[in-house]
Amino acid sequence: MRKQIAAANWKMNLTLYQAETLVNDLLAAPIEISEHQELVFGVPFPYLIDIQKKTEGRERMLVAAQNCYSKVSGAYTGEVSVEMLKSIGVPYVIIGHSERREYCNETNAQLAEKVNVCFEYGLKPIFCCGEALAIREAGTQNSYVENQLKESLFHLTAESLTGFVIAYEPIWAIGTGKTATSEQAQEMHAHIRAVMAAQYSSELADSISILYGGSVKSTNAKELFGQPDVDGGLVGGSSLVATEFSAIVNSLKK
Ligand code: PEP
Repeated sequence: MRKQIAAANWKMNLTLYQAETLVNDLLAAPIEISEHQELVFGVPFPYLIDIQKKTEGRERMLVAAQNCYSKVSGAYTGEVSVEMLKSIGVPYVIIGHSERREYCNETNAQLAEKVNVCFEYGLKPIFCCGEALAIREAGTQNSYVENQLKESLFHLTAESLTGFVIAYEPIWAIGTGKTATSEQAQEMHAHIRAVMAAQYSSELADSISILYGGSVKSTNAKELFGQPDVDGGLVGGSSLVATEFSAIVNSLKK
């Protein structure tokens, strides 16, 4: 079975005290994480070491950075490199979240560079893709998402894509309370898998975990995650509430 992942994206939220309290509450919650599942905390840079220490010894609880820079080192004031993340043992990096694409003008070409440095240093990208409302309304979401994958990933070999995670996040569903229906999510996830199979192989496409993101809540997680091509979720708002997020983790496919 492909890895099933519940990934929290805290975004730019929580003080250190609030973050520690949230993780303490989650560690005390009745969460079951079986062998083919993972809980990933996508936390702000300053908290990575602390949250990693807190979850030490808890199997299959990992941290993710929310971004990285596309260069390895040098005169890039304010940026954080994958080499730095690697040196503190961070396994995952969220790449290309729609908020970074929109507010920081990240392009598909720049994201290709970020994916490259992640693989160079052995970090696993959680690569975000997804369309805006106007594209969904025009009915061109499949080709739009396909192009995002093509321009940021298709230069890579199948071998380097091992352990790759894709998060499909329709922009119209992020933080809006408007979730994609389970049919819409399944349709796009199957499309993404078919695109990866056509470019690489069905073996590789079947091994990639594809997460859904966009107003996932405890009340809709089970249905969304129950779809055959939905391998868990990237969760924003609901990951900030311990009772909500623990229920979402427990909704992963068993
Ligand atoms: C996200 O930040 O990736 C996200 C999906 O946010 P939300 O769950 O709040 O819609």
